[in-house]
Amino acid sequence: MDLKSRLNDPTLFKTDSYIKGEWVGAQTRFQVINPANMAPLAEVADIEAEGAHKAVKAAHQAFQSWKKVSPFEREVLIQRWHDLILENKDDLATLLTSEMGKPFEEAKGEIDYGAGFVTWSAQEAKRLYGETIPVQRAGTRGWTIRQPVGVVGCITPWNFPAAMITRKCAPALAAGCTIVIKPAEDTPLTALALAELADRAGFPPGVFNMITGEAKEIGPVLTGSDDVAMIGFTGSTEVGKLLMEQAAKGVKRVALELGGNAPFIIMDDADLDKAVAGVIHSKFRAGGQTCVCANRIIVQEGVADAFLAKLKPAIEAVKVGDGFDRDVKIGPVIHLEALERIEDLVRDAQDHGGTVLSGGHSLRARLGGAFFEPTLIEGASSASKIWNSEIFGPVASVYRAKDEADILAMANNTPYGLAAYVYTRDIGRVYRLSEGLDYGMVAVNAPSVGSPATPFGGVKQSGIGREGGKWGVEEFTNLKFVLLGDVE
Ligand code: ADP
Repeated sequence: MDLKSRLNDPTLFKTDSYIKGEWVGAQTRFQVINPANMAPLAEVADIEAEGAHKAVKAAHQAFQSWKKVSPFEREVLIQRWHDLILENKDDLATLLTSEMGKPFEEAKGEIDYGAGFVTWSAQEAKRLYGETIPVQRAGTRGWTIRQPVGVVGCITPWNFPAAMITRKCAPALAAGCTIVIKPAEDTPLTALALAELADRAGFPPGVFNMITGEAKEIGPVLTGSDDVAMIGFTGSTEVGKLLMEQAAKGVKRVALELGGNAPFIIMDDADLDKAVAGVIHSKFRAGGQTCVCANRIIVQEGVADAFLAKLKPAIEAVKVGDGFDRDVKIGPVIHLEALERIEDLVRDAQDHGGTVLSGGHSLRARLGGAFFEPTLIEGASSASKIWNSEIFGPVASVYRAKDEADILAMANNTPYGLAAYVYTRDIGRVYRLSEGLDYGMVAVNAPSVGSPATPFGGVKQSGIGREGGKWGVEEFTNLKFVLLGDVE
């Protein structure tokens, strides 16, 4: 029987938490729902605060030996996890599409993307170099070493059920940290499958722990325990602030990847066909539910009509439906509350001067799940919710702007600063805009920014810290300075 059919039988696959190398159940369980048809997929253990304490204790014990394991050995284990992830790509993607909704091909792409961080981090384990430093007094020597911070509590979101886990866990493990992961309640199945593969890869018990349950119970254990050294979080700015506040009591390290409000800027010299293709990719990835999705599409006046004339049919051609159907590019949004929030955003945009040029409605009644039409809105004011908040749905909102100064001011007029996009063929504009945009990442003539090799992260209220590349691994280390006197 293939995995998709087995999904209807929750007794057949892993729904317990993974602590100290064992699967741990619980009296209380919570349901995981398929947002494409609202059918229950599984009942997952809610291990509550008590289970979280157990996992932290296991991770803390395991850290004492894991930190001493040779980085070459750590590399082998992490690489084995990577290989198992790729060998099980189709099954992981099946779980992912079933619980999160993104199209199956896109889900497979996420598994590849997520695995990329695992292999990159595995190799970085060997490259955590220190430096020798000439010090002032004769006869003394100084050098730095990088050491793992300790136990890392990882809290991850539902929009990338696999990649947001691998992007934190693999570099933490490579640095010599042990981990306790709490995946989102909406998407624990992909996460637990990753834990099963970590088990098969052979990490020593307690190095890799995955706990499921209610965030409000588990979060305070991770932020409050003296045995946890750092919190790695991806999610909303609101929850990120709360975790930072909780972690402040113990002056705990935090790495926060929070919300965005990405400007997607199209200058009057841009290649409009490429810009339209870029908007379609950036806007509708994961049904518009990513923190780097194009949120405010800002077009220079002179080309705005031509751009909209090309964008409208492109949006109308995007197919919505169950992620397992071929040709579907947009699946459902994560749940019915999300659907209602999007309906409210569209209504509010209209109340603030916006015109709906395409779509604008829920497809719940027609398609049965949490579906929303691909939508194009133009001209909502900067007082609207759609301008000020993350849309997190398949709604493209376009604004007109005069010149470069006007565009920069509009783009930076937000408390967020994660990703920004610019389409232009003028090299001067490339420099001025990429340097002037108050964002952690700027993509020029490209619709995406993340890769295992490069630093991903935000400024302002979009977060602290970087994931990816050597920076992503360094994030999980302390830089220690050693001074040696009287050697002559
Ligand atoms: P979203 O609004 O996109 O669901 P959240 O920030 O609420 O994003 O969720 C991201 C992750 O944070 C999820 O794993 C969720 O369970 C967790 N989370 C939500 N609230 C809290 C909390 N109070 N303490 C700790 N974790 C939380």
